[in-house]
Order: sequence, then C-alpha cells, then structure tokens
Amino acid sequence: MSAILNVADVSKAFSGVHAVQGTSFEVEAGSITGLIGPNGSGKSTTIDCISGFQTLDAGRVLLGERDITGLRPAEIAKAGMIRTFQNVRVYDSYSLLDNLLVAGEAFRDLNWFDALARTPRYRRVRDAAEDRARGLIDLVGLTRLSDAPATVLSYGQKKLLAFAAAMMAKPRLIVLDEPVAGVNPTRVNEVADILRKANATGISFLIVEHNVEFINSLCHKVIVLEQGRKLTEGTPAQIRNDPRVLEAYLGI
Ligand code: ADP
Ligand code: MG
Repeated sequence: MSAILNVADVSKAFSGVHAVQGTSFEVEAGSITGLIGPNGSGKSTTIDCISGFQTLDAGRVLLGERDITGLRPAEIAKAGMIRTFQNVRVYDSYSLLDNLLVAGEAFRDLNWFDALARTPRYRRVRDAAEDRARGLIDLVGLTRLSDAPATVLSYGQKKLLAFAAAMMAKPRLIVLDEPVAGVNPTRVNEVADILRKANATGISFLIVEHNVEFINSLCHKVIVLEQGRKLTEGTPAQIRNDPRVLEAYLGI
C-alpha cells in the first residue's frame, strides 16, 4: 500500500505551548484513517498544519509524491487535499445546488468572455459541474431539497452539504474535523454510510472525531495523540484493547 499522506516529524508551538511535537504518521491511499486523542492533545493543530491553515515550526508533509509543506490552503486544495471545519460553512441564502457550484471552482478555467457570452465551452463546463453537483446531493441524501435555500437545512444536513461541497473539487484526500459532532445520534450511521460510499469511489479520509463508536465502525486505522505526540496507532480493535489509550483519556 502506498501513502496518500505522509506526515513526518511535524512540530508546532504557540508561544511556549508545544501543541504538536514531532508527530509522524501516514494515511494509506484509499483508506479511512481516524485521528483521536483527549482534549488539547493536538488534533486540530495537526490537521491545521497539514492543510496549510497553520505554518509548521518543523517537519514535512507529502501528499502522494508531492511535498506540500508550507503551501497555502488554496494551493493544497488544488493539489488534492480538502479540509472541512468543525463549524460548518455554507451559504444560507444559496440553493444547495448553487452552494456546490460555487464551492467546486468548476468555473476556474473559464474566462469572463466565456461566462458573459454563454459560449458552448461555458455551457459544457456548467453542465458537467451541475451533473456532478446533483450526483453529490444524491450521495448525501438531500435530493429532495436541491433547489431549496440552505437555510432550511438542519445542522446535520448542513454538515452533509459542506461535505458534498468538499467533494466537488474531486479531492484525493478529505480531512474532516468532527463530522458527527452535534449530529442527531439517530443520523450518525447515515453519515458513516455516506463516507463509506465516498471512500468506495477512491477518496481517502483522515477523520478527527470524538465519537468512538463512529471511528471504530468506519476506520481502517486509528492514530492516537497525547500531549502533542503520537501515543500509538493500530486497527480499531488494537486501539480499543490498548491500556495506554484508556490511561490517556482518563488522564492517569
Ligand atoms: P485538540 O484539537 O486535540 O483538542 P488543539 O490542537 O486544539 O488540541 O490544541 C493543542 C494545544 O495547543 C492545547 O494546549 C491548546 O491550548 C494549544 N493551542 C491550540 N491552538 C492554539 C493557539 N492558536 N494559540 C495558543 N495555544 C493554542
Ligand atoms: Mg480540536
């Protein structure tokens, strides 16, 4: 198996607080990998560093073969890694469909003339983007609402929309920050199914999440952080039976 993401010796401190201290791990291509750990163990800082939302003090990040260390978020997104946020970001007044059309940079390669004159090239790009957007709205189970403004969505549905928006750019790797936090417990399995379906299309995932059941049911591998360092990694079953992980969570 080859790695889609290789994180090597990444460190980050905030005015003396060592949030991440020489952490290394890999996300295998095609896998769903979980990143867990107690509050303050460095999960958010780690994914901020690898997705370009924080600068690294030390270390290296490879996306596939490409060194993306120090690149800005937009450049990293173009290289194939998209990251979603704990606080959902959607355009409330836009329809679901329009939310996806603006998200995917579908029109990045068009010039203003194409757009204004509605050239055949524009229509081709627009139709392809709309097909993709509708397919993703189907994937997340919001077909019925595709033309409604996003403001009608529940919190959990907005998370699904944000996830579909992340998929628009055809990423190779999606980094999810707490995808089921605040989601109605009866809906958590639906989210897991949606992520499995997306994974089956070849997209790899790195997921930060507190819901242990969710992580165990979904992930091929789990990385455990403690105080900015990798404590251990393994399959969900290995992690579940590792006394050090329990100790880290209990703070003993
Ligand atoms: P987690 O996501 O696992 O809860 P974080 O990465 O948010 O952990 O935080 C790791 C440590 O770094 C904590 O001690 C936190 O207080 C500190 N930290 C995180 N971000 C900042 C920041 N912007 N400024 C100062 N300290 C920070
Ligand atoms: Mg966090």
